[in-house]
Amino acid sequence: MDTDLIIIGGGISGASLLYTVSKFTDVDDVTLIEKEREVAAVNSHHTNNSQTLHFGDIETNYTLEKADEVKEGAELLAGYLEAVDPDREMHSKRNKMVLAVGEEEVAELEARYHDEGFGELFPKLEPIGREEIAELEPKVVEGRDPDTELLALRTPDGYVVDYGMVAGSFVDDAREEDGVSVHLGTTVTNVDETDDGFRVETDDGDFAAEAVAVAAGSHSLQFAQEMGYGEDKSLLPVAGSFFLADDLLNGKVYTLQMKKLPFAAVHGDADVHDGSVTRFGPTAKVVPTLERGRVSTVTDFADVFGFTPASFASYANVLSDRILFPYVVRNLVYDVPEVGKRAFLPNVQKVVPTVEASDIDRASGYGGVRPQIVDTDAKALDMGEAKITGDGILFNITPSPGASTCLKNAIADTHTLLGFLDGDHSFDEAAFRDATIGTFPRLSDDTAAGAADADGETAAEGETAAEGETAAEGETVAEDGTAADDTDDDAVVPGARD
Ligand SMILES: Cc1cc2nc3c(=O)[nH]c(=O)nc-3n(C[C@H](O)[C@H](O)[C@H](O)COP(=O)(O)OP(=O)(O)OC[C@H]3O[C@@H](n4cnc5c(N)ncnc54)[C@H](O)[C@@H]3O)c2cc1C
Repeated sequence: MDTDLIIIGGGISGASLLYTVSKFTDVDDVTLIEKEREVAAVNSHHTNNSQTLHFGDIETNYTLEKADEVKEGAELLAGYLEAVDPDREMHSKRNKMVLAVGEEEVAELEARYHDEGFGELFPKLEPIGREEIAELEPKVVEGRDPDTELLALRTPDGYVVDYGMVAGSFVDDAREEDGVSVHLGTTVTNVDETDDGFRVETDDGDFAAEAVAVAAGSHSLQFAQEMGYGEDKSLLPVAGSFFLADDLLNGKVYTLQMKKLPFAAVHGDADVHDGSVTRFGPTAKVVPTLERGRVSTVTDFADVFGFTPASFASYANVLSDRILFPYVVRNLVYDVPEVGKRAFLPNVQKVVPTVEASDIDRASGYGGVRPQIVDTDAKALDMGEAKITGDGILFNITPSPGASTCLKNAIADTHTLLGFLDGDHSFDEAAFRDATIGTFPRLSDDTAAGAADADGETAAEGETAAEGETAAEGETVAEDGTAADDTDDDAVVPGARD
């Protein structure tokens, strides 16, 4: 046997699993196989997702139950970032809020906070009115009818994350351990069950392993179905694009979810690495590919679509929904040059009313494809992530918020995988928690509560945030958002969010 465990896919899911198994279990040999020449080149790349660490606090498309599930996942990753990235190279921390506009939305947001349990679940969440919103995000209030009611729920946990860099960090951490091997630029072409495990065939030779974890994004379902698993599922690939503008927001501003719409409402975010760039999106366009802009993945889509009466009936049922259908059609228009940005403009104006079409441009080359799961038995869209557990093998299909919950998924997968392996292996979950959620700032911690200032970024330990950005350890942020006692301006990114 070449190795105990093979992980297929080096996005944030595969990388976080590699980190967890190699650092916190006594499994001897772990191999990661990734088809691209670098890790996290697909959905986990920073240009391809919204860079938000989803806690469930400002995502009004989540139920309380879902928020409760997602929260721990986000705290695990936030703790890891606090521990390993004090200089904020992989992440920044900014204001994050969900904005209600008008009487009806304000009443809805108030009920969510006071009556539906969100205020209790998220003690750092704080209702703020027009004046405080204007202090934090002047452009959100500028040009808005003064008679329109405004309310926002604001939190200092506005982590903006380059999930690609985090995946790289997980892999680097793992490589410090013996028995870890990483094969980049190596495509898995087939997985077969053998008498004592699996044969994983690649374009660079075969590997044998006792257990396999498939973390290949949309392709995970394709691998599963080729092995006879997940036959009751199909995929609706939903591409998300973004529009860019200059410096409109200091942090993240989400809008209230339109009822019954499965995809998150458009939000505005400053970029993790360049706070002067504000992103709006993502859009939601149904596409027949598993990866953005890769025509070669049309046949992969055909595989997971299945062409069965059940999959046709499921698609028809999902897409004929009277809320979803017009939304899907509208989203097709957003990618049309020139016309698209005019059609998209009202979404941006909901966040920043004074924006004009000339202020925004489609972010060329940005965006990914969310593998939304279709339950072909129920003939309905299942908005969550999916985990298929087979005999000695598991498959993860990870639409949003799969990046936020990567470490929580890794805990569950590690337990499952140890159960697949011969011998008495153990997982030091206490040490794993110390290295991750153990350093997540709580409300009692001054830094955590640490209000982001007017520029939307909050300060890291030992710093004073002057202009809305939180500063990294040992630094002071000056009014212009640069580090006052350090010449390395990169340590502080002004005004970003996802
Ligand atoms: C527009 C958009 C916005 C999003 N915003 C957010 C957000 O703000 N916050 C959040 O938490 N989540 C967000 N998500 C979701 C998030 O991006 C994904 O959940 C996450 O990146 C999934 O990570 P992954 O590692 O499972 O998949 P991926 O990052 O897609 O990685 C899968 C890897 O498997 C590799 N692979 C595939 N096939 C093979 C093969 N045959 N052999 C070897 N390797 C293979 C691929 O090359 C790839 O590197 C967003 C997604 C989109 C599309």
